[in-house]
Amino acid sequence: MTVRVRFAPSPTGMFHVGGARSALQNWIYAKQQGGVFVLRIEDTDAARNKPEWTEGILSALDWIGISRGSYEGPYFQSANAGEHRAAAARLYDSGRAYYCDCTREDVQARTGSQHQGYDGYHRDRGLGPGPGHALRFRTPDEGSTVVVDLIRGEPTFENKLIEDFVIARGDGSPVFLLANVVDDMTMGITHVIRAEEHLPNTPKQQLLWEALGVKPPVWAHVPVVVNEKRQKLSKRRDKVALEAYRDEGYLAGAMRNYLMLLGWAPSGDREIVPWSVIENEFRLDEVNLSSAFFDEKKLRAFNGEYIRALPVAEFIDACQPWLTGTETIAPPPWQPEEFDADAFAAVAPLAQTRIAVLSEIVPNVDFLFLASPLIDEAAWAKTMKDGSAELLDDAVAAFEALESWDAESLKSTLEAVGAERGLKLGKTQAPVRVAVTGRTVGLPLFESLEVLGRERTLTRIRAARLRLV
Ligand code: GLU
Repeated sequence: MTVRVRFAPSPTGMFHVGGARSALQNWIYAKQQGGVFVLRIEDTDAARNKPEWTEGILSALDWIGISRGSYEGPYFQSANAGEHRAAAARLYDSGRAYYCDCTREDVQARTGSQHQGYDGYHRDRGLGPGPGHALRFRTPDEGSTVVVDLIRGEPTFENKLIEDFVIARGDGSPVFLLANVVDDMTMGITHVIRAEEHLPNTPKQQLLWEALGVKPPVWAHVPVVVNEKRQKLSKRRDKVALEAYRDEGYLAGAMRNYLMLLGWAPSGDREIVPWSVIENEFRLDEVNLSSAFFDEKKLRAFNGEYIRALPVAEFIDACQPWLTGTETIAPPPWQPEEFDADAFAAVAPLAQTRIAVLSEIVPNVDFLFLASPLIDEAAWAKTMKDGSAELLDDAVAAFEALESWDAESLKSTLEAVGAERGLKLGKTQAPVRVAVTGRTVGLPLFESLEVLGRERTLTRIRAARLRLV
């Protein structure tokens, strides 16, 4: 039997990091089993779906390594509507489903409770199809439904606690629960690996598989991803969109490595490992049951390590979208013609060791390309104290006299300027840094001045000096 798994996102919003994790788990499982990964877009909720979300899913999957053309699909659930209706009709014809025209109020009036499920009123009343008649599945009164789950063992659900649930609405349209089963069946899915939040649907879905006469798949419900307050990651509250992380400058390699560690770990004490190790070592049945904390700080640290591990040329390439701007990444503050690729290449190795996400490249290098630096006024106020004006005067004089404009000479020169005033280098360089780069933190100062060049450095220090008059 060929293993066939599927990833079945609904295109109702940005692509959720939890979804990306399920996609990767399915992807790896298929690969390990010599199986097939199917992508199915569950687009039947017309009110909430948008084609651009589908495109977003495809490109986000592509970004983390599930590339277009390397899987089966995408299929679209909406294209299968005929099959969904046919399955509903089969269930009715075989007596496994019946029509019901009760409103919620009718049921409440009979049961006297708002919380009780459907009471089976129409089970044997022989109501036929018609406008406003929903189709309900006749769940067995006895026995239990045992779900075989690779992560959870065999969760067992008593059938008598499962109400006769709706499978097609009053207008005849099949509900998600049924469409999802019918699609899995038509696509020959053998393993359903998905988020834990779908577990309550699973006994109902398994009953549908059985009623339609097909052996149910093996299930695997992976625990939910939560924030630091242990709340399920939500798009209203948390940063969940894979695209947002991509546009902030997370590397795909770091992201997918991190996502796979949510609820699982490779052997030994390792966390940052090559993808091939994860592909070999990942075991679906080792995924643990507790919810997985999506720790953005840890992800940042991971990303920093991945950035540092890049060969410099690759780092320079990887920075390009932030140096130019793209459809989804804001352009940098300099004009395209102000950018100097050689100057960038000269400071790139210094920046590579300091940034954790690629978007941070921009504030680190903007001073090199802008005609005058963007002054951070708070940093200015904190740094430019009594004596700064004289110190800048001395720095200008000393730098003018420098024979060789290189980092080492610049450093020893400024060190000497400070020493005359009894200042350590840190204190001496702060006003110079603010004058030249506009900020108190950034790349190593003297290397930066070397790349910026004598003329521009002196112009900026003089301009700062004028502001201090
Ligand atoms: N479309 C469903 C979702 O996005 C997937 C359900 C499933 O994987 O079975 O949550």
